[in-house]
Amino acid sequence: MVHDTAAERPTNSVPLRGVRALVVEDDVPMATLIESYLEREGYEVHVSHDGVDAVQAARDVDPDVVILDLGLPGLDGIEVCRQLRTFSDAYVVMVTARTDELDTLVGLSVGADDYMTKPFSPRELVARLRAMLRRPRPMGGSGQVPSLRRFGSLAIDPIGRDVWLDEEPVRLTRTEFDVLAALSHRPQMAFNRRQLIDQVWGETWVGDEHLVDVHVGHLRRKLGDDAGAARFIRTVRGIGYRMGSGA
Ligand code: CA
Repeated sequence: MVHDTAAERPTNSVPLRGVRALVVEDDVPMATLIESYLEREGYEVHVSHDGVDAVQAARDVDPDVVILDLGLPGLDGIEVCRQLRTFSDAYVVMVTARTDELDTLVGLSVGADDYMTKPFSPRELVARLRAMLRRPRPMGGSGQVPSLRRFGSLAIDPIGRDVWLDEEPVRLTRTEFDVLAALSHRPQMAFNRRQLIDQVWGETWVGDEHLVDVHVGHLRRKLGDDAGAARFIRTVRGIGYRMGSGA
């Protein structure tokens, strides 16, 4: 099936002016290549060649997106991402040299929004970033004001993008919030991975649908949820996920 409406087609002609990107990459020619692609797209680009500098640059620049290489001198990408997450909710795309590193990263729950393995085409990176930045935010269509969504001790404010567990705020990444918002918007629905990707990453997103499991895993950890006896995000065997408790 081919979707080709104007709304779904990537609009290459619209530059992303004012979007700040931080490129963290110790391979200088690679960093320069990514920088030039992003600048052509209209990004304001800052480049950092090591981990320690990257954390400081993130504080100074307050980037909207961070392209973060895993293998860095000084502080590796995992530690950079962890430190970044204490003060920034920028979209983070983690770049790894090997596919098997991806599995390790998934287990570590570092809080990246997307992962790419080298070699990748800068065009693909640009397309992924564009999809991320254009993600529809929960707006509560047709003028109605969505109220706080409650699931037991969990409360979700789709407008303020806040989440509380037992009245304590929970800090989620943008992607984690978007996944939770999609699930909680239709708690009666069992989402398969592709449906969640369409909702959160957009219909043009192409990649490993396993990414959904990564973010659900992070969410469950932060919400103190147990896959075996879920209180909030339940696994629907053979399908995917839905809000709600029980098996
Ligand atoms: Ca590297």
